[in-house]
Amino acid sequence: MPFLSVYECSTTKYELRCNECGKVYGNRPLSACPDCLAPLEVCYELESVRGRVTRATIARGPASIWRYQDLLPVPAAFQPDLGVGFTPLVRACNLGRRLGSENLYVKNDAVCFPTLSFKDRVVSVALANAQAFGFTTVGCSSTGNLANATAAQAARLGLKACILAPSDLEAAKLLNTRVYGARLVRIAGNYDQVNRLCTLIADEYSWGLVNVNLRPYYAEGSKTVGYEIAEQLGWRLPDNVVCPMAGGSLIRKIHKAFQELIALGLVEAKPVRFFGAQATGCSPIVQAVKKGSDCIEPQRPETITRSLAIGNPADGAAAARMIQETGGWAEDVSDVEMVSGIQELAEDEGIFTETAGGVTTAVTARLLSQGRIGREELTVVCITGNGLKTTDALQGRFAEEDAVRPRLSDFEQYIRSFEPGLISHQAELELAGGLY
Ligand SMILES: *Cc1c(COP(=O)(O)O)cnc(C)c1O
Ligand SMILES: [Zn+2]
Repeated sequence: MPFLSVYECSTTKYELRCNECGKVYGNRPLSACPDCLAPLEVCYELESVRGRVTRATIARGPASIWRYQDLLPVPAAFQPDLGVGFTPLVRACNLGRRLGSENLYVKNDAVCFPTLSFKDRVVSVALANAQAFGFTTVGCSSTGNLANATAAQAARLGLKACILAPSDLEAAKLLNTRVYGARLVRIAGNYDQVNRLCTLIADEYSWGLVNVNLRPYYAEGSKTVGYEIAEQLGWRLPDNVVCPMAGGSLIRKIHKAFQELIALGLVEAKPVRFFGAQATGCSPIVQAVKKGSDCIEPQRPETITRSLAIGNPADGAAAARMIQETGGWAEDVSDVEMVSGIQELAEDEGIFTETAGGVTTAVTARLLSQGRIGREELTVVCITGNGLKTTDALQGRFAEEDAVRPRLSDFEQYIRSFEPGLISHQAELELAGGLY
């Protein structure tokens, strides 16, 4: 392999290690252990940063994922370019009231910079490594959001991009890839077939495929969701995290982030339970958890929640194990419940999420009503993508309004026919003492 290279971050040493047999591989574009085919994981010598990474040094960093640069696998020479991440963590009182939680928060990656999903985080870390390994062409196999993030950031960095995606993705996600000048290859098949093809391509071409040969580095970018949650809670851990699952990577990495913060003494140790969310039509990880198993039975996806439609999830077994070890659970919801989830989050909190967020919101409702999540426990719901990319899911949900003539009398007649209570005249407002 011509790309062999070993490097160190300025403060942290890290390298790839096999999750199963423990063999180490240095740093190179490689996703699975050649001996046992298990996924490789980036492992750090955390001792080398203890005391140097503190709450204060992090607070002095930029308002982006790069405030945690010392805890990410990027080379010492790496200069961050884009201010990715550091999205809002908002208290969700209205949704909490509806669902029966007094302590509910939303981590809002629907507004992640630059392409409105948490995939911006993973792509940043992957492309830093693509450049370090000397790749000039990058790409990915994508369920949509990864395509957008890879295309946008490759454009910014001057890398060529070739993106493979199932041909029947949402139109907005396809357009959102093409617009950056990336070569989009629509594949007549589902995501799992696209991904298998990408594995063959990675073996043949010297391309940096962010979720294939760069996958161990890519996956580490998801840890930043966990660091941010802890910091935004005032350097505390929540009781529960509810997280959508496709490949099963994000949920594991939030857990890994919390473990690292505990190991570094940045937060007090406490048990955090992890809850996974999938659409019923593609729920291999949920089914494993419900059986008390970590054996993933691959499925053929049958859901409009495209961003989570991975039938054979790469990190599914490890995610199922972690969920059970933390005392958590996993649930799946129908597409109808998913759409209600989108609607409730929008109406209650003013956050328009995509299908994955609808699944996560609906699963949170289910977990609260089952009593698996307690009313007073601090619960963080991870909203990972933006609703403007999956407007197809709301097709036919709202009748198109008649056009009203631009006259006050027409307007009043129209509004009275729907919502008489909406009308309050200036005079009434004055009587109520509302003018000043
Ligand atoms: C990719 C994706 C996920 C799931 O991520 P995994 O790490 O593969 O489990 C969740 N939500 C959205 C919007 C995504 O695009
Ligand atoms: Zn191995």
